[in-house]
Amino acid sequence: ETMIIAIDGPSGSGKSTLSQRLAQALDFVHIDTGAMYRSVALAAQHAGIAPDDHERLGQLCRQLQIRFARCDGQERVYLNGEDVSEAIRTPQMSLLTSKISASPAVRRAMVELQRAMAVDLDVVLEGRDIGTVVFPDADVKFFLSASAKTRGQRRYEQLRSRGLEVSLEDIIDQVIARDAADSARDHAPLQQAADALVIDSTSLSIEQVLERMLLRVQQ
Ligand code: C5P
Repeated sequence: ETMIIAIDGPSGSGKSTLSQRLAQALDFVHIDTGAMYRSVALAAQHAGIAPDDHERLGQLCRQLQIRFARCDGQERVYLNGEDVSEAIRTPQMSLLTSKISASPAVRRAMVELQRAMAVDLDVVLEGRDIGTVVFPDADVKFFLSASAKTRGQRRYEQLRSRGLEVSLEDIIDQVIARDAADSARDHAPLQQAADALVIDSTSLSIEQVLERMLLRVQQ
């Protein structure tokens, strides 16, 4: 029997850190679906495909190879064999990803790929629609949240630690804009599964959230 853990939430909710930590603690495979949509956006940009060209986007998705690997304790993302871990995380790519991931053709292809990647494995999947669309029957579901200010602050620190020159005000504005874009679109808005355990991490440490998650998994 394998186990599927779904973690959904907006950017900066602590989702990526916690899903990686949870996967490590349980020795599960970690699948970052945001990185998958970001990789599609990067490939679309390279190929000069517009966010509303659903046909070409669908074709593009069928040709892509997305792979995750751990390297020196860090998770890396490979697109067609090339390490794109940094390139997919720029603020500009975040905005483009929000548009590209609204394409039904892209979502269909990615959901299918995500399900295939999880076959016969114990997995932690993180995203926006894991507990509602990708794996509505997941064994355990979490929904992480935090205030926009806290999420902006976290994103800012993440980007700065990657050596990017950004302003905190801009990043908070971008977090709010992306939330609006992600929740306004018709296809796969950020959704909270009715049976998810909601954790607001605004005033909790990573360790405190991880502890709550582990308790829930072990129940
Ligand atoms: O989680 P992350 O910030 O890397 O996700 C980047 C973008 O990808 C989100 O803003 C959202 O538009 C999109 N996304 C999605 N469905 C997912 C994961 C991410 O539409 N399951």
